[in-house]
Amino acid sequence: SKLDILNMAGASERTFIMIKPDGVQRGVVGDIIRRFEQRGYKLVALKMLQPPKALLESHYEEHKGKKFYEPLLEYIGSGPVVATVWEGVNVITVGRKMLGATDPAKSEPGTIRGDFGIVTGRNIVHGSDSESAAKREIGLWFRPEEVSDWKHTAEKWIYE
Ligand code: UDP
Repeated sequence: SKLDILNMAGASERTFIMIKPDGVQRGVVGDIIRRFEQRGYKLVALKMLQPPKALLESHYEEHKGKKFYEPLLEYIGSGPVVATVWEGVNVITVGRKMLGATDPAKSEPGTIRGDFGIVTGRNIVHGSDSESAAKREIGLWFRPEEVSDWKHTAEKWIYE
């Protein structure tokens, strides 16, 4: 019914998905966006940018002091990234499944990292790992007016 569709959409979440510089260089931006679109998720924000160091320091603050932290900042800061926000039911958890494991060697074929990556330090894509991380990351990377609230006309064919 119409109410169920509204309720489903109301249960929607948003997640932050970023195509890292290696994903851009490898020419898989379109493929990654296609996977999320094809799944039925709704694209609500998108931009390419050269991420400033301060932004990356905030984004990766939980890893400060770890041995991979400096190389990580250098890697993500080395070229433009494509920052996106996706909306849909369970998009945070399902988005992480679509990405695969942090280490591409442990990612199943069929996942983004399992299809395009080999090592952890070049793992193509980032995705928020929790509701609080998603909120925090969307707020870091996008101003509120950069996130579009639009109605997916296919919604009734995606949700029951
Ligand atoms: N990373 C790395 N070496 C490690 C662990 C992580 O280079 O041993 C990088 C990798 O790019 C990873 C990012 O740091 O995606 C953030 O690590 P996290 O454990 O949060 O993994 P994610 O949530 O991205 O899967």
